Amino acid sequence: MYPNYTFVNVKRVKLPKGWVMLGVDLLHEFHDLKQKQILDDSFLVCGMQERFGKLDVQCCNAPLVVERLISEFSIQAESTCQDCGYFLAVLHKRNNWVRVLCADCALKSNYRLMTSNSNLTHRPR
Ligand SMILES: [Zn+2]
Repeated sequence: MYPNYTFVNVKRVKLPKGWVMLGVDLLHEFHDLKQKQILDDSFLVCGMQERFGKLDVQCCNAPLVVERLISEFSIQAESTCQDCGYFLAVLHKRNNWVRVLCADCALKSNYRLMTSNSNLTHRPR
């Protein structure tokens, strides 16, 4: 499912299914940069996963352009449902598990909105 680029130094990229397209797009972007010879052979992707509701990408010898791409994609992931890929998602919580979910998927899997968000709108006067 993921492109088999030589710079991907990960046994298996494993992202939640709603984020797979993001991961694939990011790898394509890296590939483009290699084609344009902006990235050399020392560049490697050493890890790509979801951690605590965030997209976590580790690279070796990543120039600034890669850092920027990763932060762009991470910001996009912060509002992309991990389950269905819908773009109107926010952090939800169940016990100690944190996931980025849309309202429908949160309801289905019994996750609740993170309280830190609602504190902002219901601050006592
Ligand atoms: Zn969803």
